[in-house]
Amino acid sequence: MLNRELSHLSEMSRSGNQVSEYISSTFMDKQNEVEIPSPTLKDKPMIHISGVRKLSHSSSLSSASMPRFGVNTDHEDELAKELEDLNKWSFNIFRVAEFSNNRPLSCIMYAIFQERELLKTFRIPVDTFVTYVMTLEDHYHGNVAYHNSLHAADVAQSTHVLLSTPALDAVFTDLEILAVLFAAAIHDVDHPGVSNQFLINTNSELALMYNDESVLENHHLAVGFKLLHQENCDIFQNLTKRQRQSLRKLVIDMVLATDMSKHMTLLADLKTMVETKKVTSSGVLLLDHYTERIQVLKNMVHCADLSNPTKLLPLYRQWTERIMEEFFRQGDKERERGMEISAMCDKHTASVEKSQVGFIDYIVHPLWETWADLVHPDAQEILDTLEENREWYLNTMPQSPSPPPDRHLQHDRFQFELTLEELEHNNHNNIYRRTSGGSSRGIRNSLKALCDDSNGDRTQGEQEETGEEDQNQAEAEEDDEENHNGEQNGIQEEEEEENTGEKQGEEAEEELEEVLEEQEEGGGGEINGEQDEEIKEEDERDEEIEEEVNKDEAEVEKAEEEENQGEEEGENEDAEVEEETEENLTEGEEGKDEEGNTEEDKEEETEMDSKDEEAEQEVAEENAEEVAEPQEGEEDELQEEQES
Ligand SMILES: [Zn+2]
Repeated sequence: MLNRELSHLSEMSRSGNQVSEYISSTFMDKQNEVEIPSPTLKDKPMIHISGVRKLSHSSSLSSASMPRFGVNTDHEDELAKELEDLNKWSFNIFRVAEFSNNRPLSCIMYAIFQERELLKTFRIPVDTFVTYVMTLEDHYHGNVAYHNSLHAADVAQSTHVLLSTPALDAVFTDLEILAVLFAAAIHDVDHPGVSNQFLINTNSELALMYNDESVLENHHLAVGFKLLHQENCDIFQNLTKRQRQSLRKLVIDMVLATDMSKHMTLLADLKTMVETKKVTSSGVLLLDHYTERIQVLKNMVHCADLSNPTKLLPLYRQWTERIMEEFFRQGDKERERGMEISAMCDKHTASVEKSQVGFIDYIVHPLWETWADLVHPDAQEILDTLEENREWYLNTMPQSPSPPPDRHLQHDRFQFELTLEELEHNNHNNIYRRTSGGSSRGIRNSLKALCDDSNGDRTQGEQEETGEEDQNQAEAEEDDEENHNGEQNGIQEEEEEENTGEKQGEEAEEELEEVLEEQEEGGGGEINGEQDEEIKEEDERDEEIEEEVNKDEAEVEKAEEEENQGEEEGENEDAEVEEETEENLTEGEEGKDEEGNTEEDKEEETEMDSKDEEAEQEVAEENAEEVAEPQEGEEDELQEEQES
C-alpha cells in the first residue's frame, strides 16, 4: 500500500516526487549501489575512533561544589521553573538550553537521573556523572543545525516521559531504564550533519570503517562508549560485569535501531506485537522475554527520535527549521561537489510544508498510531497533537492551481495503512532490492520493487536484515501467489512505461531548466524569511516546466540526448547494477536455507527463561557470529566480483 501511495504521490507533482523520494530513500532499507572505492589509505589503518577528543571537566567538579542542576548558570530560577515540567510531553527543551548556558543535554540528564534516583541505584558518583554527560555533550557538534545536543536532550527527555506511561508501569528493570536513557543521550553523538548515504557516496572514512552499514549509528555507539574511558567518566564503574554486559547489549540494540532505514521493519514488528499483546488486569503490558522488551525499548527511542511532529506546534516548527537547515547544508555540499542533490536537500526546490505532511502521513503517524495502540489509551493526546500539527502544515502549504496535489493528500488522509500483512509480506519478499542509489530512476525502481513480488531475489545481507520472518517463508510465498498476481500486472504496466525512458527524460529536463533558471536569477534562497514566497514561486515554476515538457516531447528528448552525453557513465553503472541484481537472485536462493536455519536456531535459543540469561546468550552468540566462516553466498559474490 505504501509503495502505491508513494508512487502516486511522486507522480502528482515534482515536489510530491521529492517527498516520496525522501521517504523511500530515508525510511526504507536497501542495498547501496556505489562504486567500490579503490583503497586510498595513505596513512595507517584506523586504530582510533574518530571524533573522540580529550576534554577535562573533572578539575572543575566535585560532589561538594555541584551546582543545583549539574550545570553552571546565572538563570537558576528560570531553569528550575522549566524543569518543573520534566515529566510532561509539553516540556520546552529550547528554554532549558537557554537557561543552562547551552548545556541542555547535561542539564536534562542530570535532572532525569536525579528524578529517577539512578545515581543512587547504580552508585554513580555525581561528579563522574556530570563529567561524562558534559564530555558527551561536547562531542555533539554545536554547528550542526539539527543533530546537536539539543536534539539528544529532547530525545532523552521524550524517552523519559514515554518510560513513565501507565501501560508500562513497573515493566522495565532499573538496568533497562538506565540503558534506554543512556542510549537516547548518546544516540547521535558526533553527528556530522550529513546522512549515511552522503557518507557512503563520498567514500568517507566512517563509511569505510563500518562497511556502509548503519554508518552513523555505529559511530554514535562507538563514541558514546569510548567516552566512558576518559578521565572520571566511567558512570558504569560500580555495575557488575554482568550488568555492564547486559547494558551494553541493550544500548547497542537500541541505537542501531535509530537508523531510519530500519523503520519499516521496526514498525512491522511493533504491529505484530500490538496484535498479540497481553495485558494484566490493571492494563499493564506483559513482556516476558528479552526479545519483546528490547523491541518495545527500540521503538520507544525511535518514537522519541521521531517525536518532533507530536510536540506543541511552536516547538515542532523550530525543529522543522533546524532539520531543513541541516538538509539544505548537505544539499549545498552535494551541489559543490557536483553530486546529485539528495531528496529534500535542495534549498531551491524543497517544499518544507509538503515534506512535513508527507513525513507525518507515511512515517510518523503510522508509527505513533501503533505505539498508541500498544499503550492504549495513554498516547491519545500525543496523537491528537500530531493530527492538529499535520492540519496546520497542510493549511500552510503553498497552493498551486493545478493539478491539486493537496487533494490527494487530503483525500487519503491517514487512509493508507501499512497493514501487518503487507509489511510482513514485504519483509518476506525483499522489497528492498538493489537499486541505482539516489537517482530518480533508482527511486522509481525501488518504489516499484516494493510491489514486485518475484521470489528469491533476496540478497544475503537483506536476509540477515529481515531476521525472524524466514520461518514463515513458505506461508508468504503462498500469499504471493494468491494475492499479488493482479497487483503485479499493474506493476508491469508501470515498468513498461518507465522503460521508455520518457519519465527520466522529463525529470532530467526539469532539473536542467531549473538549474538554468537559478543561474539566471543568481541563486539565493535562504531557509527562512522569504521562504514561503519562494516555495510558491517554485511550485508555479514547476507547473510551467511540466506544461512545457508535455507540449514538446521531441524537444525534451533532444535536450535529454545532449545531457546524456555527460551521463553515459551513469547509464552504464545502472546496467551493471541490473546485472548484479540478477546475480543476487541466484545467490539469494542458494543462501536462503542456510540463513533461514541459522535464524531459526537463534530464535529457539533466545526463548530462555531468565532475561539476563537471554542477554548473555545473545552476547555470546554475537561473539560467535563474529568469528563465523563467511557464508557460501558471500564467498561466491566475492569471487565473482574479483573475476569481473
Ligand atoms: Zn536522532
